[in-house]
Amino acid sequence: MLDVLRRIVQEVSTARDLDEALRIIVNRVREALGVDVCSVYQALPDQSRLVLKASVGLNPQAVGKVSLAFGEGLVGLVAQRAEPINLERAPEHPGFRLLPETDEEDYQAFLGVPIIHQRRLLGVLVVQNRAAQRFNEDHLSLLVTLAAQLAGAISHAEAAGQFAEVEAAPQSGIDLRMEGVAGAPGVAVGSAAVVFPAARLDSVPDRVSTLPEVEIQMFRDAVVQVQEELMEIKRRMTDVLPAEERALFDAYVMMLNSETLVEATIERIRAGNWAPGALRETIHENARVFEQMEDPYLRERASDLRDLGERILARLQSSQERRTGWPQRTILVGEEISATQLAEVPREALVGVVSATGTGSSHVAILARAMGIPTVMGVTDLPVERMEGREVIVDGYQGRIYLQPSERVREEYLRLYEEEQRLGAELREHAAEPAVTPDGERIPVLVNGGLIADLKPSYIEGADGVGLYRTEIPFMIRERFPAEEEQFELYRQVLEAFAPRPVTLRTLDVGGDKPLPYFRFEEDNPFLGWRGIRITLDHPEIFLTQIRAMLRASEGLDNLQILLPMVTSTGEVEESCRLIEQAWQELSDEGCRLVYPRVGVMVEVPAAVYLTPALARRVDFISVGTNDLIQYLLAVDRNNAHVADLYDSLHPAVLQALVQIVDGARHGGKPVSVCGEMAAIPEAAILLLGMGYDSLSVSVAALPRIKQVIRGMPMEECRALAREVLGLESSDEIRARLRQALIDHDLGGLIRPGLH
Ligand code: PEP
Ligand code: MG
Repeated sequence: MLDVLRRIVQEVSTARDLDEALRIIVNRVREALGVDVCSVYQALPDQSRLVLKASVGLNPQAVGKVSLAFGEGLVGLVAQRAEPINLERAPEHPGFRLLPETDEEDYQAFLGVPIIHQRRLLGVLVVQNRAAQRFNEDHLSLLVTLAAQLAGAISHAEAAGQFAEVEAAPQSGIDLRMEGVAGAPGVAVGSAAVVFPAARLDSVPDRVSTLPEVEIQMFRDAVVQVQEELMEIKRRMTDVLPAEERALFDAYVMMLNSETLVEATIERIRAGNWAPGALRETIHENARVFEQMEDPYLRERASDLRDLGERILARLQSSQERRTGWPQRTILVGEEISATQLAEVPREALVGVVSATGTGSSHVAILARAMGIPTVMGVTDLPVERMEGREVIVDGYQGRIYLQPSERVREEYLRLYEEEQRLGAELREHAAEPAVTPDGERIPVLVNGGLIADLKPSYIEGADGVGLYRTEIPFMIRERFPAEEEQFELYRQVLEAFAPRPVTLRTLDVGGDKPLPYFRFEEDNPFLGWRGIRITLDHPEIFLTQIRAMLRASEGLDNLQILLPMVTSTGEVEESCRLIEQAWQELSDEGCRLVYPRVGVMVEVPAAVYLTPALARRVDFISVGTNDLIQYLLAVDRNNAHVADLYDSLHPAVLQALVQIVDGARHGGKPVSVCGEMAAIPEAAILLLGMGYDSLSVSVAALPRIKQVIRGMPMEECRALAREVLGLESSDEIRARLRQALIDHDLGGLIRPGLH
């Protein structure tokens, strides 16, 4: 049975469109079950009807013509009830309705099961037999299993089919809309530029080359292209990396000119291997030499070499897939988009991001929000491989995209875009003014960052400091662990840019959805695994290097705050504090004149909620990471598009936890802030202030909006609202109440529907 299932599902997943998928299903099911008839009725939700879309056994003339209303006949009943119906004598059932065009009067036994994808009814799968005999349990369970498994493939085929239709008739005025989840607010109209995951050198096999001279030429071309690509990346990284770091790209270009790499590979091709295999051998041989070296700096060159090898391989494998430039208004599209890929697109060209996987809480979405780039995540049906160069509209509020939009839709979005730009400009005008509530409370609003480009003077002016600097971002866009000196340079720039205002540098928080390309490890449950403080405490050499760099960078500025991520116990805090103390002592002995930094703990795991008073007693401040806290409290993977609807900042349980954290911090006598994305949602921001949070930290893009909200909402009202909504039991009620309050204070225009 399993085998039959697997084969059918596999075959269907390769279908070009829905018609082909349904034809495969009806034929294979009839064969496998040995039934007289197998048919699929497709649901047309807008018209509440079911159309006979494919059949073997019924009159072929009826296919595509016969239809039933929901609730009409047995098929309609299956759809309406959303459950199977299994009958020995169908015509005797009161709901039976004969469809004479189908020639079904001869059939007695009927079994129909609904096909449902993510709560949406796609159709009904029906088998029928002449003999009056109920279908047995095996038949029923096979059909139910098949319908559940096929639902995703059918939905995908449906989308692919619509896509092909629109493609075939671009002037038809049909808008092809695809649903995903909101990633970063805003709308954009632009051209799709598709990115692919990097090629893996290790998996390249040896192969005999029949045309060595052609292989050699391809290889030489690939090397030149990679050299050009590296110089291009170097230029683009001006905003992101300091000058010394960018010089590294010159070193890579030189490595690519070296005889050991180019000539050795060509020799191997002449000896009979094809270019990718010859390249793999050369890279491995040279990397081994570097790996055996004493000097740690030279040892690191091995990973550089591997990366270069993979870049050349990517060019070799499909030169036509690589891009040479970016559209003026680039919508970055991919199955899964990495932080590096995002950073590689020139800032001025990037207007939108669309990812087939992930959610609004994925790291790449957070990055996009920080950069103010409208983003839609989790568009599961996205035909990534056919998207290159297409016009796309990104609606980052509703979490949807339009492919090849009609003139009407395009105009509507362009109007929205212009309105946004106007509102954004107005808000930015006031961004530098302090956030004081109408009843006179001054609320510190800090920014979250992770890129040098975040340090734009216009934003710096309006921020009361940095509430969260994600140090893993510089780690992620490099090819290896940055050395102490490199980290020092970077942290110094951030600390200097904001001094004397506080800058909160978070210690390395990798693992989970933030893997480092050069520090990979496989885990079944990465979010419950080795991440954040767990990794750095297991690797004190990484932790100490980072802390030393942070402390040195703060010399003379004295505005450093160190933040510890993913803490679940007091022991982790004590151990971290001991290491910070050790680094401080070492540097003081080396002659640095350092003020001891303030140290804080992130509360982002349920265990830490209950431990807040104990954690607060051991450090100087508490900062709540709602992104992770919500995923752990609600048991919703922040990257999983299937459960994105369940991820809800205003869930009553989340609010209870947030109140408990404020109380805990007060008991421990320490200030408490929120640096998770929740603080950037206007409805949530007023609630957090009402609960007693001392400050908020939001992305630079959200800063003007949140300051505007604070300026319009009296603190007394925030407190009353918090008391009121804490008594409510559903997030819908809570959201509605908070939105009403914003509207009542003329702040309705700042509500962002897609943010949850
Ligand atoms: C959080 O979890 O809320 C947080 C701020 O950290 P990150 O999003 O980087 O995991
Ligand atoms: Mg976190």
